[in-house]
Amino acid sequence: MDSVGVAAAAPDAGPGPAWQSKCPWGAPSTTSISCSLADVMSEQLAKELQLEEENAAFPEVVAAAEGPFITGENIDTSSDLMLAQMLQMEFDREYDAQLRREEKKINGDSKVSISFENYRKVHPYDSDSSEDEVDWQDTRHDPYRADKPTTTPRRGFIGKGKDITTKHDEVVCGRKNTARMENFAPEFQVGDGIGMDLKLSNQVFNALKQHAYSEERRSARLHEKKEHSTAEKAVDPKTRLLLYKMVNSGMLETITGCISTGKESVVFHAYGGNVTEDKVIPPECAIKVFKTTLNEFKNRDKYIKDDYRFKDRFSKLNPRKIIRMWAEKEMHNLTRMQNAGIPCPQVVILKKHVLVMSFIGQDQVPAPKLKDVTLNSEDMKKAYYQILNMMQQLYRECNLVHADLSEYNMLWHDGKVWLIDVSQSVEPTHPHGLEFLFRDCRNVSQFFQKGGVAEALNERELFNAVSGLNITADNEVDFQAEIEALEKMNEDHVQNHGKKLSTFSSDGDPPIYDE
Ligand code: ADP
Ligand code: MN
Repeated sequence: MDSVGVAAAAPDAGPGPAWQSKCPWGAPSTTSISCSLADVMSEQLAKELQLEEENAAFPEVVAAAEGPFITGENIDTSSDLMLAQMLQMEFDREYDAQLRREEKKINGDSKVSISFENYRKVHPYDSDSSEDEVDWQDTRHDPYRADKPTTTPRRGFIGKGKDITTKHDEVVCGRKNTARMENFAPEFQVGDGIGMDLKLSNQVFNALKQHAYSEERRSARLHEKKEHSTAEKAVDPKTRLLLYKMVNSGMLETITGCISTGKESVVFHAYGGNVTEDKVIPPECAIKVFKTTLNEFKNRDKYIKDDYRFKDRFSKLNPRKIIRMWAEKEMHNLTRMQNAGIPCPQVVILKKHVLVMSFIGQDQVPAPKLKDVTLNSEDMKKAYYQILNMMQQLYRECNLVHADLSEYNMLWHDGKVWLIDVSQSVEPTHPHGLEFLFRDCRNVSQFFQKGGVAEALNERELFNAVSGLNITADNEVDFQAEIEALEKMNEDHVQNHGKKLSTFSSDGDPPIYDE
């Protein structure tokens, strides 16, 4: 907002140091500005107008645009909206419960039943499972969904002798078509055709079907847009409420802003509060909000589904709970690492899908990722050996494989490397654990070899150094094959003995695959 900023734009100011352009004495000498006066005028005008607007909107001018957005003071207006939304959600849920009761009453024990599903206000996925009465064993089978009206059985006819009715019968066919409308997307309002014994001709049904499909596609596009917009605002109302409660309880002082918006999570910076429930809140915190939109998580199933620690629970969970499990997993893994003395964020608290941890960085500025920092060769070498060490510790003492280790998930802070982002980390005996480890090794090797660390082991050597295994294959393909063979051996062992090999334990000895 400094008027001198214009000078910085002048090309003839040369590529001098950045501070020069900020120097107030520099301004008069650079009158020969390449852009026209009109440009400058309009730019200034635009700035003025913007300022005016901002002043009108925020009379007390919060100095920085990235000033606190959730504090004790300014939350009220937004929380009114939020509370209203929560109330509405509560109302919708009650409404749906009433619908279900009515549905039950009408259907009774009758084999032919009707469904009010299309009138429900809350889509099954939208309902929060924290207060859930129901867990979906399998989300494809919604227990609320009434049995489909039965028309003709498979063999294609009903009745006997003269009273036989085939599946081509117009009335039966019409009813069947009406019933099949149930299969359209839930947001497609088909009305209560069954209740009024509506009979749809094939022609009409087909036209409707076509329409329903295009509607479905349209609504999917709309939904996508909606998801994007919530990503921009970072959090949904429920998460906002959770965060608000953390501030309100005094655990956090202020939440200052967003550090990162990833596919699976949003990370905020916050200043720690002074109210403590038996624990010390770090002066600066990072809040990782695991996104409750499900799309991105689907392809991560394999990390958690095969993790025996979560195996029993996985099949019983609905998607929302699975996302909470990611947060929980990150917490557990961070705690293990903390106990082993690996530099990593310290867990402060986990609430549903929101994980609060200590902030790596200072004064709201997060420590740079290893990929963004330029280290001198000495530091580079130091970082390499530190990571080698950490990978071994992680494997042997924490019984973990990071599984997403790369220069993107390592921060450089205080002259050392910090590991973050461990929600996907698994135990080495995970069915794909060794493959994940090999991938981690490849990332690390490549990064440091490119970075000029002559001592850096290649990915195969690194793998052996970390795991203590002694795979001798001298090329990538064979190496990978041996890894997979080991994994399979372990899986077979699990199949036969019903438990994991205990040999990936913490004593640091090379695991032995046959007991
Ligand atoms: P994602 O799964 O979205 O990659 P990460 O845990 O890697 O989630 O966090 C995303 C980014 O947020 C990181 O790259 C880092 O810049 C920042 N970040 C995450 N946790 C912290 C922390 N404890 N301290 C500082 N910055 C953090
Ligand atoms: Mn990350």
